[in-house]
Amino acid sequence: VILLQSLLEHAADINPHTPDFKRLIDLCYSCRRCISACPAGIPIPDLMAHARHAYLKAGGPGGLTLGHRIYANYGRFDRLGSATAPFSNWMTRRKSVRKLIEWLTHIDSRALLPTFSRQTFEAWFHNRPASRKGEGKKAVYFVDSYANYNDPSLGKAVVSILEHLGYDVIVPPQKESGMPAVEYGLMEEARQLAEYNVHQLVPYARDGWRIVCSSPAASYLLKEGYGTILDTPDWRQVSGATVDMAELLLEEYEAGRANFVYNGEILATYHYCCLAKSLGLGRATTKLLEAAGIRSVQNDDCCGGAGVWGTFRENYDISAEIAEKLVQKIDPHIPLLTESETCRLQIEAHSSAQVLFPLQLLGSRIRGLQVHQT
Ligand code: SF4
Repeated sequence: VILLQSLLEHAADINPHTPDFKRLIDLCYSCRRCISACPAGIPIPDLMAHARHAYLKAGGPGGLTLGHRIYANYGRFDRLGSATAPFSNWMTRRKSVRKLIEWLTHIDSRALLPTFSRQTFEAWFHNRPASRKGEGKKAVYFVDSYANYNDPSLGKAVVSILEHLGYDVIVPPQKESGMPAVEYGLMEEARQLAEYNVHQLVPYARDGWRIVCSSPAASYLLKEGYGTILDTPDWRQVSGATVDMAELLLEEYEAGRANFVYNGEILATYHYCCLAKSLGLGRATTKLLEAAGIRSVQNDDCCGGAGVWGTFRENYDISAEIAEKLVQKIDPHIPLLTESETCRLQIEAHSSAQVLFPLQLLGSRIRGLQVHQT
């Protein structure tokens, strides 16, 4: 809104290649809250991403730090962190190392970074004993980086639920979905990731497989975001086949194919993250929580993380201030549920509440389901 106002008021004075213009576009941290609020559906964060791209292309000063480039290629760094864990985790917890990282990348030494899992989800999935045969339903799981390299327990919960519901599950080769590259206007990197993932997924979409995501960022990019950089028939096919795991589970529940065991009420806070809100995913999650006897108090505040925006030293203080406002409104004695990996980290950094993914709690209440642990 500020940008639009400014454009309207000063259109004649605006030079899109100056630091002033950059300061203006940097005000938007791509939370996507305005998407659900705007009745005309103006995609402001997409306009901002393209404005950043134009700024970078024009060689505007102070465009990107090394940290932006690392985040834009986070799959490679996650792979390295996982392959060298637990050493990588030990290193990134050392103050001196974090200070050096901050100096090199602008990633604030106070920001909580995710830990790496030595065993990736993909290694677990491809080396486990054969699963039971499905019932003719087919799902391709688009894992994304966090569930693969940082917390494979999320991916295991997804596979357990899908197989319990009678799906044959496959995990084809894939790269990270690439949200930071899109946000920072690194459109060439974003386009390469989009092309690779669409190329891997489209044969399954054509064959009628559902493409299942457990990350709101992946759901958003496969369904909508890749369309802003790769509007091809193949992407449209992939988009049409993509479903968020919560939506799929609700579909199965409403068709009577999934049931929950009620063994006492659980109280939880449901943090409806900005990105999930822009996709309308909270409807499915809240219905499922209710069905599973999990009484949730919805929290709609922004956590201030905005993906990885809040980890940069120039944003850290304002990001922490926003998080503190959220934390004052939640009960730290009950679990907090959120679909977003980065909201999870941000809330864990600023609150003592146990932060879980809704699927982890829902999985524990699906009748007859044993969630894979190893
Ligand atoms: S994406 Fe968020 S920060 Fe950017 S304009 Fe929309 S509401 Fe504002």
